Amino acid sequence: MSRPILLAIDDDISVLEAVVQDLRRQYGATYRVLRAASGQAALDTLRQLKAREEAVALLLSDQRMPGMTGVEFLEAAKLIYPDARRVLLTAYADTEAAIRAINTARIHYYLTKPWDPPEEKLYPVLDDLLQDWNAGYQPKFEGIRVLGHRWSLRDHELRSFLSRNHVPYRWLDAASSEDARKLLMERSLDPEMLPVVLFADGSSLVDPEPEVLAARVGLRTQAAEDFYDLVVVGAGPAGLAAAVYGASEGLKTLVIEPEAPGGQAGSSSRIENYLGFPSGITGADLGRRAHMQASRFGAEFLTQRAVGLRVDGQYRFVVLADGREVASHVLLLSTGVQYRRLDIPGADTLTGRGIYYGAALVEAAACKDEEVLVVGGANSAGQAALHFAKFACKVTMLVRASSLESSMSKYLIDEIERTPNIVVEPKTQVLSAEGEDHLTAVRTKGPNGEEVRPAASLFVFIGAAPRTEWLPDAVLRDEKGFILAGPELKAAAKFGAVWKQSRDPYLLETSVPGIFVAGDVRQGSVKRAASAVGEGSIAVQFAHQYLAGF
Ligand SMILES: Cc1cc2nc3c(=O)[nH]c(=O)nc-3n(C[C@H](O)[C@H](O)[C@H](O)COP(=O)(O)OP(=O)(O)OC[C@H]3O[C@@H](n4cnc5c(N)ncnc54)[C@H](O)[C@@H]3O)c2cc1C
Repeated sequence: MSRPILLAIDDDISVLEAVVQDLRRQYGATYRVLRAASGQAALDTLRQLKAREEAVALLLSDQRMPGMTGVEFLEAAKLIYPDARRVLLTAYADTEAAIRAINTARIHYYLTKPWDPPEEKLYPVLDDLLQDWNAGYQPKFEGIRVLGHRWSLRDHELRSFLSRNHVPYRWLDAASSEDARKLLMERSLDPEMLPVVLFADGSSLVDPEPEVLAARVGLRTQAAEDFYDLVVVGAGPAGLAAAVYGASEGLKTLVIEPEAPGGQAGSSSRIENYLGFPSGITGADLGRRAHMQASRFGAEFLTQRAVGLRVDGQYRFVVLADGREVASHVLLLSTGVQYRRLDIPGADTLTGRGIYYGAALVEAAACKDEEVLVVGGANSAGQAALHFAKFACKVTMLVRASSLESSMSKYLIDEIERTPNIVVEPKTQVLSAEGEDHLTAVRTKGPNGEEVRPAASLFVFIGAAPRTEWLPDAVLRDEKGFILAGPELKAAAKFGAVWKQSRDPYLLETSVPGIFVAGDVRQGSVKRAASAVGEGSIAVQFAHQYLAGF
């Protein structure tokens, strides 16, 4: 299989030669380095590569070129290779223009010339970008294949699980793919028992539970130790931050998470307001990077769900879905929130069969050239609409409020306005969903009255609620299930009855000493990735103080 390509573009042949040499020296073993002396020549090369189904990982273009500037080239190149990382090389004087171009041409990075020494000024940036690109790159290979029906909830869950854990797979629609039918016959598998996962060694798993699949694809499902200093439940931004700080500060740390690390942020197509990422970062990339960082410091990750919790003296035990337990002195609950379900006739039966909650990334490619409906008017709905607009021919946002202004960040509203295939319909509600085995239409009520519109995909982003019912009553929560901590805990009516310590609870400590909470699941938290990260890291400081009292 041929190596993915890095393409350098510059009209100044000596500069082009220098870039190519630097790229070859560092990346030559893994990538092929190609060159072009103009934007037009580079576009021609890209079209030929596309026709040969070659993978292009990076475009590194000079800005000042006759005929076509670097920004113009990168904008045009985005249409041919939308996933390739786009980097602009600029002179210092062009920095302003480069920053503006980050928005218009969606450039991932700009570098100022000269880039010497490349070890400091070029490679670290490109390493990061290539890592991101690699995370979404699925080379042609004969690996895991998933056979199922597009409109099946189980099939959707299984594919989400693999995608979010960055396990490469190829999906075949059992209803329409001749290859799928052949494979089922060859392996004597019942076409009624789907989805099925086929492995390269000839083995298969029929409709596996996540833990079984996790173990089979090499994810860890059993803790290496019985006891940890710190156990973190939930690997969203809050839990991941706690894992990074906890492990880096010497605490033996275990993170329990049934999905891929990243949490809700992982389903967000692009977080644009997270500090330090001027051109935005996908939630999945943020999760993957944090996971790597925490692992590097020695944190251990388990692909498991926490289903119970018990306290025995100074030990806190988390009960896992497979019945095993892990013990710790300090426990951090960072389980976030889950999408609120649409409460309309038809929604339950059609979930996963055309109605999806926060499933933007996995389903987007399946909606190619189709019309997509998005319900909701907050940032998450806006991000999803922008993401779908790259694949679908038209995206309609159904928004209950009279405009997006009150619920969505201005930068997203501006971008939606700039995107021609997104239509916003304010004052519009979904009344019911229709379809036998998958969604075919929705009934809506808007300013022009009720109407039935054909629909194959409806993506719902109407808020979220915590899932904390697995916790014992001793962990006090509010009426919606958000966990109380610190000052909110002290103000609760039951506080005096449950808190028996001579000290006050620490800022993020729950009603059970040594059990902390961070992120969206905490009552009163700000529902933002950066806030969750802040709380996760602060919780570790209180964990140290708590442990110091032993
Ligand atoms: C589509 C979308 C777009 C968003 N865009 C932005 C944005 O642009 N900027 C921004 O700042 N914020 C954004 N947010 C909000 C941001 O993602 C959240 O505030 C943040 O993810 C909260 O982090 P958390 O760690 O508290 O919880 P979560 O991210 O919800 O993570 C919780 C984790 O806990 C796991 N879990 C739950 N129950 C259990 C259990 N019983 N056992 C083990 N693990 C469990 C879940 O699987 C999950 O991975 C967006 C949210 C969504 C949904």
